[in-house]
Amino acid sequence: MFKLESKYTEIIKFIREKYNTPEGMIYLHEPRFNGNEKKYLNECIDTTFVSSVGKFVTRFEEMIAEFTGAKHAIAAVNGTAALHISLLLCDVKPEDEVITQALTFIATTNAIAYTGAKPIFIDVDKDTMGLSPKSLESFLSENTTQKNGFCFNNTSGKRIKSCVPMHTFGHPCRIDEIIAICKRYNIDVVEDAAESLGSYFKGQHTGTFGKFGTLSFNGNKTITTGGGGMILTNDDELGKLAKHITTTAKVPHRWEFVHDMTAYNYRLTNLASALGCAQMEQLPGFLIQKRKLAVAYTEFFNQLNIKFQTEPKNSSSNYWLNALILNDKPEQSSFLEYMNNHEVMVRPVWQLMNRLEMYKDCQCGSLENTEWLADRVVNIPSSVIIN
Ligand SMILES: *Cc1c(COP(=O)(O)O)cnc(C)c1O
Repeated sequence: MFKLESKYTEIIKFIREKYNTPEGMIYLHEPRFNGNEKKYLNECIDTTFVSSVGKFVTRFEEMIAEFTGAKHAIAAVNGTAALHISLLLCDVKPEDEVITQALTFIATTNAIAYTGAKPIFIDVDKDTMGLSPKSLESFLSENTTQKNGFCFNNTSGKRIKSCVPMHTFGHPCRIDEIIAICKRYNIDVVEDAAESLGSYFKGQHTGTFGKFGTLSFNGNKTITTGGGGMILTNDDELGKLAKHITTTAKVPHRWEFVHDMTAYNYRLTNLASALGCAQMEQLPGFLIQKRKLAVAYTEFFNQLNIKFQTEPKNSSSNYWLNALILNDKPEQSSFLEYMNNHEVMVRPVWQLMNRLEMYKDCQCGSLENTEWLADRVVNIPSSVIIN
């Protein structure tokens, strides 16, 4: 029988060679600052514009809008805040419910909880690791009724107002089918594209399909601002509102301080945006390097007869976090133990949302693929290689 253990030293050797790091820690995803970062940060400091006003905020928003093709891009303090605001602007109320996947980072689910709404967890597809349109359709057809143009959950009696699919590890989910289903059931789509800057589905950038899409620039993402996020939308009205509500809803005036609603201080600073502009200049290069590494991993793991997750059909992935699908849970445990003991950082997929204390009472669809993946997926080092 094929033993994974016998391949460990080969895997470590391959990864260490790729990263030109014969010894010491190899992290999962390190940021790279090889562009104008220091120059732009110094500009902020020299001009004293370090906070929420300054030219880099607008420039960063423009760069993201241009790159993604979204009509509007609104900077936010982090990806979680961007999701929170998007859900609020979809009119998600405390008494509503919001569908998402159980296989996601906590931010997706927390943002739903911040609105007061209750999450519902649906299965993912094995090939995309993102929300499964088939599971979504079967959950909605078996569990909901349409009333007054809204979708109501037969079990809870609550309105299902929104759906948040996530493009896992940068691999686009079947977003076109999800949008079509949600449209039929009168459910708004907020795409959590936190992990998928630079990923395209049928040639269109992820995060631009739904009513809103959101990005994250946390330290471990494809580009980073230290911490940061972005709201994407093609709706002029909602774009304006998103800016207003993330910036304390201040009515523009030269000296008066008037605010016309209870809003949020979710602004991204000029300092963070300066970093973002410098990172955006390097994004095309980062994406080329990430794809090169993914191609090398694909060949290497094919040879070892280990399944490496490649981009799904119809899409181009940014390969944010590379993933292996091992044979079973014992293999996953032993791999995690060995690699981490040898200073090659690897990790399992996040603890499933429906297994966390705060969310264990939430309604779930069948989670067959989700649970299957949770026992097998491991992420391996994915930082951009600079050569
Ligand atoms: C990173 C991430 C976010 C946003 O996280 P922040 O740290 O708040 O920027 C949201 N959803 C997913 C799936 C993520 O991976």
